Amino acid sequence: MSTAETKTKPQYTVRRVQLGRTAQLDELAHACGQVYSRTLLFFWRTVRHKGLWLKPKHLMRLITTDPDHLLHAHTVDAAVQAFFAGLSSWRERRKTDPAARPPRHRKWYFRIEYKSSAIRLKDSLLILSNGRENAPLVLFWEWDLPQTVVIHWTGSEYEAIATYQIGEGLPEEEELSLEERRAEHSVGIDMGEVHPAVSCDGEHSHLLNGRLLRSKRQYRNKLMAKMDAKISRCKKGGKRRRKLIRAKQKRLRKLKHQIHEIEHKQTSYLVNTLHQEGVEKLVIGDVRTIRHGLDKGSKTNQKLHQWSFGSIRHKLTYKAERLGMRVVLQEERYTSRTCPVCGHRRKSAPAGRVFRCTNRTCRWQGHRDGVGAANIRAKYRGEFGSRHVVGTMAPPTGCGYVPQLRVSL
Ligand SMILES: [Zn+2]
Repeated sequence: MSTAETKTKPQYTVRRVQLGRTAQLDELAHACGQVYSRTLLFFWRTVRHKGLWLKPKHLMRLITTDPDHLLHAHTVDAAVQAFFAGLSSWRERRKTDPAARPPRHRKWYFRIEYKSSAIRLKDSLLILSNGRENAPLVLFWEWDLPQTVVIHWTGSEYEAIATYQIGEGLPEEEELSLEERRAEHSVGIDMGEVHPAVSCDGEHSHLLNGRLLRSKRQYRNKLMAKMDAKISRCKKGGKRRRKLIRAKQKRLRKLKHQIHEIEHKQTSYLVNTLHQEGVEKLVIGDVRTIRHGLDKGSKTNQKLHQWSFGSIRHKLTYKAERLGMRVVLQEERYTSRTCPVCGHRRKSAPAGRVFRCTNRTCRWQGHRDGVGAANIRAKYRGEFGSRHVVGTMAPPTGCGYVPQLRVSL
């Protein structure tokens, strides 16, 4: 297994993200292992037979791809360079340590390194390019574009280490004590599929109605399928085919604009309302863990992937910050199934639109939509799992979509 060689030079900083284990990562790590091992074998063979110590540039010219062409050319280079990095670290070590040994062992798996040329960020997805014929590796990514990404095995799962130059990429960490957090006027925000966002300040909830957004997305999927079927029946390179493709793109553009418009109006409404209520801080539930390695069948997967919390969260954040409010992300595990009154955690997620506490001495019932948001806020304030909402929560007030409603964007 590869070792974590994270050289944190003083001017750089890293962000670590756990990735679990997938077949795709195994395949890529194995391809890197093949490149590393070929480099190592060729290098030592040349030393043995010809007495020559080759340089990185020689081997990078010789080994330009992995056997199955799975890797990006620069990822291949990185695996070759990694062997030479090991070699020079041995040269350094042996000055003080006579027992130091150079890298001699082949590796079945080796760390996967992506250089900036292979990294793109689009709609909260980090797209890491592989070989030309191979699908990219896509990671859910709520942060800025890193300069390099190295994926290595920690012993139990894969971990991505993203490198940033200091001064860009990493947000300022806010260190507030629980007392300071509780003194703030904060709202929790739960981003979900039924409602794109629900806020709760402990008593009042507001929600964005997701029905229209959902119907637009469903329509988009249907339209795409229909148009693709039509297009596939046409002759390749034909006039009709080109016409159809143009028509499809035009209709998709229109839908995209409509979806963005709805998102803009709804997020502006929510942010303006919260601002008027004197809210100082938005605590947004961090939903990233939901998409990771979770396979719920293709239907639900499509829903989850099109659930645009990335873009809605982005809009909420910049609009809130523009009005002087601050925004933080809060890990949100179990927030949708924990009773906001007594802190009891249900064994299963509540079904239906009403939350019913399963604790016999509590039996609290209330609108399910505000529960997640109330608990996210409670987590931020260090009150989660204990009694923090007293009495009944008011049912949420909604923001539907009124096309003629004019809101500053
Ligand atoms: Zn309860």
